[in-house]
Amino acid sequence: MSNEMKALSKAKAEVGLWMVRAPVPEIGPDDVLIRVKKTGICGTDIHIWNWDAWAAGTVPVPMITGHEFAGEIVEIGRNVTDLEIGQRCSGEGHLINKTSRQSRAGKFHLDPGTRGIGVNEQGAFAEYLRLPAFNVVPLPDAIDDEIGAILDPLGNAVHTALSFDLIGEDVLITGAGPIGIMAAAVARHVGARHVVITDVNQDRLDLAGRVADVTPVNVANQDLKDVWAGLKMKQGFDVGLEMSGNQQAMDQMVENLVMGGKIALLGIPPGKSPVDWSRIVFKAITIKGVYGREIFETWYKMIAMLENGLDVRNVITHRFKVDEFEAGFGAMLSGSSGKVVLDWT
Ligand code: ZN
Repeated sequence: MSNEMKALSKAKAEVGLWMVRAPVPEIGPDDVLIRVKKTGICGTDIHIWNWDAWAAGTVPVPMITGHEFAGEIVEIGRNVTDLEIGQRCSGEGHLINKTSRQSRAGKFHLDPGTRGIGVNEQGAFAEYLRLPAFNVVPLPDAIDDEIGAILDPLGNAVHTALSFDLIGEDVLITGAGPIGIMAAAVARHVGARHVVITDVNQDRLDLAGRVADVTPVNVANQDLKDVWAGLKMKQGFDVGLEMSGNQQAMDQMVENLVMGGKIALLGIPPGKSPVDWSRIVFKAITIKGVYGREIFETWYKMIAMLENGLDVRNVITHRFKVDEFEAGFGAMLSGSSGKVVLDWT
């Protein structure tokens, strides 16, 4: 193994990413070194590509980006006893401390000191990735590398969808990006009755229909109330999964929820967003903010569901060799793609 590798770096504080030669990371006693095979491009990576205000205020330069990956362990630290060289894996990209109250209670995903690979620490858009062994998630044979590379966003979808009991419930998902679409597939898989997904982007609604057995609704030209009345629902939706960060979508969700309905929020509004709180109070709605994935319960459930027939492969719409990364980011920037996967082999 040479001690240099290819990596996609935020090498300059301006729009874009650059393919660079970087040193292969050196691992510590509790780490593993992973040969990256496939990576997914995330909305976060697009913020970093665009170098918007969030990215410029958060990401130090230079930084190897990327956090959605699958690969194979090629080196293990001397304290690591439960993993072997050759193990196929993905991994949790949130690096946590073990000393906070939340971590000591087993709620690792709520550790306030969380640092993200590809954002605060060198990331996965590289031939090699250093990761604490704690963060490694071994992949069973049933999960190939390209699905392994989208487990991070699928985990966001699973975490959000499993926030409330969906068995027999009618579910509204606002926002048909890849995570919203995968959440729809999860909701169906776990036994929701009707799953309706809304957006104003027809390409993404069409994609939702190809990935999951859901009712896609373009709220630019269809009224949600007509849709649920047509499905013979009496009062509206029982559970809402907000994936868009869009204020109108949030308003529509509150309007179309039953009394005592529940909302899980994953979408991030661009700034402060006016909310009609009195509607939420008088409808007795429960709201839960969702961050990341539960470490590692979400991973366990997600892998079990994938082994048991959950199929999200069609959410991947573009596949590129990593040398064509600009085309991959172009597909993402078009706003109509599903997941875009880059091949590092
Ligand atoms: Zn991501």
